[in-house]
Amino acid sequence: MPELPEVEIAVRRIGAAVQGAAVESAVAPGMNVMKTFEPPLEELIGREITGVRRVGKMPVVELGDLALLVHLMSAGRLRVFDKRASPKDRASRVLIRLEDGRELRLREFGTKQRAWAKLLPAGAVEEDEAVATLGPEAWPSPPLDAFAAAIDQARHLHPLLRHQRDIAGIGRSWVDEILWEARLSPFKQGSELSDEQVGRLHAALHVLSDAIDHYEQTIGAELPDKVPMPLRIHRREGEPCPRCGTKIEAVYFAEHQTNYCPKEQTGGRVLKDRRLSRLLR
Ligand SMILES: [Zn+2]
Repeated sequence: MPELPEVEIAVRRIGAAVQGAAVESAVAPGMNVMKTFEPPLEELIGREITGVRRVGKMPVVELGDLALLVHLMSAGRLRVFDKRASPKDRASRVLIRLEDGRELRLREFGTKQRAWAKLLPAGAVEEDEAVATLGPEAWPSPPLDAFAAAIDQARHLHPLLRHQRDIAGIGRSWVDEILWEARLSPFKQGSELSDEQVGRLHAALHVLSDAIDHYEQTIGAELPDKVPMPLRIHRREGEPCPRCGTKIEAVYFAEHQTNYCPKEQTGGRVLKDRRLSRLLR
């Protein structure tokens, strides 16, 4: 699932590739992908792409006074292709065909159709419910007091940091890296943190800018479908912690997992497997 660093590098590369290109046609073969009907996609014909940016984990394609706000959900990808998609390409959700023959394509992998897009007046993007309800951006990192206020909640850090309305941009992969960097348990509550721990967590957000720097160095003009993520903890169960060598553990949920170093994050405790405890209940 693309998170803030992956969407950031995607919008930089896509923006560099398509800025100034004119739209020949725009269609949405994905049923129900467009969450808006007015203005219609045909309004894009003849317009120039004026910029591509990011809010939280969402790319925004700007076309003068209109903007296409895209939510990739877990399996959507936005990419520029040199040729048009085959009509048989079942992954196509939104196709913006450019006059130079290229195509900006929103595709979605897997069977579920969850990714969506909204065509909005450019000035209405920030007021859109999906944008207006976002918490402060995790990168560039918010001021310490804004961050402290956002996470001062009686909820576990793992879901709290991934909750876009509290802080925007972090998902299931980078949350593990941030918590490991801060040496904090995923099951500690936001409101339980000392000032010193809040400071550590805030400082740990640098892993997001490190990731963006890494992508800047490793990803060329051509954006791959799946960006190789420089993760050190997430999905590394059984491997040694890169800092202390302790075996990295995992807690599994229905659709995701969290990984952590028990020595440095949970006071040596190996946490219960939620999947197993559900079966045993
Ligand atoms: Zn460790």
